[in-house]
Amino acid sequence: MAQVVLENIDKIYPNGFHAVKNASFTIEDKEFCVLLGPSGCGKTTTLRMIAGLEEITDGKLVIDGKIVNDVEPKDRDIAFVFQNYALYPHMTVYDNMAFGLKLRKFPKEEIDARVKNAAKILDIAHLLDRKPKQLSGGQRQRVAVGRAIVRDPKVFLFDEPLSNLDAKLRVQMRSELKKLHHRLNATIVYVTHDQVEAMTMADKIVIMKDGVIQQIGSPFDVYFRPTNKFVAGFIGTPPMNFLEAKIVKGEGGLWVASEGFKVKVPKEFEEKLESYIDKDVVFGIRPENIHDKSIYKGEHTNDVIKGIVDVAEPLGSETLLHVNIGGQAFVAKVDPTTTAREDSEVELILEMETMHIFDKETELAVI
Ligand code: ATP
Repeated sequence: MAQVVLENIDKIYPNGFHAVKNASFTIEDKEFCVLLGPSGCGKTTTLRMIAGLEEITDGKLVIDGKIVNDVEPKDRDIAFVFQNYALYPHMTVYDNMAFGLKLRKFPKEEIDARVKNAAKILDIAHLLDRKPKQLSGGQRQRVAVGRAIVRDPKVFLFDEPLSNLDAKLRVQMRSELKKLHHRLNATIVYVTHDQVEAMTMADKIVIMKDGVIQQIGSPFDVYFRPTNKFVAGFIGTPPMNFLEAKIVKGEGGLWVASEGFKVKVPKEFEEKLESYIDKDVVFGIRPENIHDKSIYKGEHTNDVIKGIVDVAEPLGSETLLHVNIGGQAFVAKVDPTTTAREDSEVELILEMETMHIFDKETELAVI
């Protein structure tokens, strides 16, 4: 068992900066948990507190049922994989991987077996005699992971381990780390600011902003049920569209309306929006839930908006239309067969059952 529990954790640095505010969450045994957020949101600080590399100002950190606030990093049974890999340049790959075990006075045969086993898992057995400078970025990354694996720790902590790799290698290592997680059956806490990494690898995502946890949930939860406008805009590419609008009562029920558009609220959302009638709200819809009416089948009337195409970006499998809707910017990810042209009018169909409404003041999700 290797459950990690954070209870009301705070971190105030000696200069008075409050980097983590009242963080509470549980990482279950064998879970792949990603701490996600923009630069400076406090995710690395949180990871370093779990590792014991940073003192906890307030709150409780429990690993495997024991409070470990005052336990030395080396006694926490945790392995940390750093962003810059922190390999010893003068040592071979073998010695880099063996180093931690030698320090802990493991028998030679045991060290040899563990290093060779980890090398096999990571497909670096042929590199064991090389020095770090003779390796590619991806290979170095694997050695850094190997050094963690040989220790067979309760918990693996990763701090942006893929950020030094090029885009293609990052995608490859992403799926390798995911496979590795299944193979090792380990508890992993992984820090990144890359929402795609988080979405593709995590069982659980903890989203932070300015030291405060915004949402804890599965990739499915944070994409489909964001708790606030920040999470809604942070998850998904291109990001969710936000339009300033009003909820109004009209023909057949409630409508979302603003300068240049008026669309019908699906019946199932009406009750939740009763108290917002005639109030300003933020209307959210994802680019992938918008279609070009001219090439979309079916009858559509109450879910159509019109705009002028500023830019059309063909990406091959789809085309991004940057559209101006009554002065507000809007992006639609439409079928590449779209006939929409720059500076011309386009009619777009919104999948209204996927819409979101945020309170304008609190930015919390109403729908
Ligand atoms: P990044 O992705 O850029 O690493 P992060 O989310 O991991 O960002 P942290 O490194 O945890 O962020 O830093 C959180 C905040 O705490 C930042 O504003 C940072 O400047 C501040 N901070 C970090 N270390 C210290 C320190 N030793 N003293 C004072 N403030 C610090």
